[in-house]
Order: sequence, then C-alpha cells, then structure tokens
Amino acid sequence: MSYTQREEQVRESIEVRKPVAWAKIQQTDQRVKEGKSIALLQLQYRYVCNEVCKHCAIERFKVNLEGRKLTPADVKDIADQAHEYGLFSICISGGEPLIFHDLEQVIDAIGPERFILSMDTNGLALSQHEIKWLVTKGVDRIHLSIDGLQENHDEFRHEEGAWQHNIDMLPYCKQYGLGVVVNIVATKDLVRSREIEEQLEFIQKFGFHASLIYAKPVGNFEEAGDQVLNKKDFAYLETLTKKYNCSTHLTPAYGRDVGCLCFKRHFSILPNGKVLPCPWLPISMGNVLEEKLETIITGSLMNPWFSWKHKHTCHSGNQDSYFYKNVVSQLDELHDLFGYPVDWKLLNWHFEYFRKSSTKITEKGS
Ligand code: SF4
Repeated sequence: MSYTQREEQVRESIEVRKPVAWAKIQQTDQRVKEGKSIALLQLQYRYVCNEVCKHCAIERFKVNLEGRKLTPADVKDIADQAHEYGLFSICISGGEPLIFHDLEQVIDAIGPERFILSMDTNGLALSQHEIKWLVTKGVDRIHLSIDGLQENHDEFRHEEGAWQHNIDMLPYCKQYGLGVVVNIVATKDLVRSREIEEQLEFIQKFGFHASLIYAKPVGNFEEAGDQVLNKKDFAYLETLTKKYNCSTHLTPAYGRDVGCLCFKRHFSILPNGKVLPCPWLPISMGNVLEEKLETIITGSLMNPWFSWKHKHTCHSGNQDSYFYKNVVSQLDELHDLFGYPVDWKLLNWHFEYFRKSSTKITEKGS
C-alpha cells in the first residue's frame, strides 16, 4: 500500500499522539478483507448556524426534526459503539459546531484520544483563541469552507469579508498545529470558468490540502440542478488532483480506490439519530437511537450500491450515473410526501442494474 507524503505525515502524527486510534488504523486492511466499514463518522449534532449558504445541504432536514435530539450522553454511546466496532475517525458537524453551546461536552463525550477527530466549519467563528483551544481539546483538523476566490465565496455565503477572515485564520492553524483541509464546493460555474484552478493555486501557498466537493442538488441547492457535474467534469477534477495538493471523494486515499465512499469510508448521523450514507444523500438507513450502530452499518453494506463488492462513481453528484438517474430522481417526490430524510424502505433501489452483471449479491432493501 503506498501513501502520499501528506498521508505519511498524518499517520506519523497520529501514531505518536493517539496510540488508541492508531491501533485501530492498523486493522484497516483486515477490516476491508472482512467487508467491514472503515468510515469517517460525520456527526451532524445540531443545525444552529451563523451563515446562510447557497449550497447548504441540511436546509430541508431542519424542518423535519421533531422528536428527540442527540445529547452528549447519546454522543458518548455512539462513540463507544463506533470505537468497539473499530471506527477510528469522527467529524463533528452541524450546522456550525463552533457555536454549539455544548461543544466541549460533545468533544469530551467522543473521547478525542481514541479517534482522529475533525470538525466541519464555515470558519466565521474561528479566532486565534478558538484554534488554540481546539488543539488542546484533541481536535486534529478542521474542514474549512473556502469556495472560490473572495467575490464568489462571500456571495455564495451571503457574508462580506467571510473569505478574507478564513484566509487570515490559516497561519494560526499552522502555528498551533491544527490540520486543515480546505473544502471547496465544485459547482459547474466554478469548473467552467476555471476559477477553481486559480483558487487551488492560491490555496497551495498555505501548504494545506484541498478537498473538492461535488455540487449536489440537495438542501438550498435543490433548484440549482444546472450546477451538478457530469462525467466529463469529474474527469477534469481528477486531473486537478494530480496537479495540485487536492482530492475528491473519488481520489484513491491511503492507497485504496473504493469509488463512492458511502458506508465504506463515510456516513452521517443527523441530530435525531438517523443515519445517512452521505450528507448529500437524504436517505435514512436506520436510527442510532433505536438500533445498534453496527446493525445499521452492516445492513447498509449489504446493499450493492454501498457494498465493497462494487465500485461506483459519486451517487449524489454525477448526473450521468445510473443511481443518480434512477434512485436520486425519486427523492424529490418522496420528500413532498414524507419529508427528508426518506426511509430506505420507500425507495425502488433499481437492483436490476446488478442483475445484468454475474455478481451474486445479498441486498438490503430488495
Ligand atoms: S455519494 Fe458522492 S459525495 Fe456521497 S459519499 Fe459517495 S462519492 Fe462521496
């Protein structure tokens, strides 16, 4: 297995600072052989936020969140289950985690010493003090949103000065040793205008890795179907990953090319405990407040759209894919009837796609 220079540095640092997490990372190859998940668990703990972004994926979830919400005690239970199952990476997400009143309790409940701990942030509430504090609490890296250059970012987020603020925070992250992955939403406009290349050149100066997030027609972006990429755009973005210090969800990581990450390398938990294959696929595969996390993961990995037996393109952001055309296309109507996220049992999963191949599959939801 070969690693990039950045991957080597991350591994060395975790080995020294977080031996419990490191021990689990060592099991990765064996887990993949056994068909188990090696996912990053994204915990969308609350939906409070201090920005109103054009592409916000959670906008429609907010209106459908009646009932019990996760507490720090639930977070501890979920993290305990994730640890016992062997997961080694948790990302605190929202909303905007930096304005959670109980962020410290959430971090402590996770137990930062046993996970690579990351946090999604729009950056607006970051300061030198916050950066220092996150490091002392055991947060390893932030996923910081910087969409395009100044004008594009501020307009996208309806916040003048937001871009400059995030740029100003980067040297502090370096100073205090907080890892940064710059998240860039790759819209059709950004790709077409080639502004994305200008931005990647600019970001390179700071020495941080960038992650190109495919634009998805969910949340606030639902009406912007024209911003969704196609396979030609996907191929173009992959050429950028070779030229710049950046990756997409489909770029091989840690020497492993798994295609779409759903459940293999990524899944999300909402504030009401529902589990999604990915933040941009509003499909509930179960609820951690009602079932064991392992039961949900194992069942979902039996679905051939998510299983290790198949490698797929992005299910939610490639308008040319079979899944996008046949499964994602059902979500809008089901949302109108039942709200988001849509229960997996309500979908026609179009498993005929796999029957055309000779692979024998055990499916969830057939
Ligand atoms: S559907 Fe796309 S964005 Fe979601 S996990 Fe798969 S590759 Fe990533």
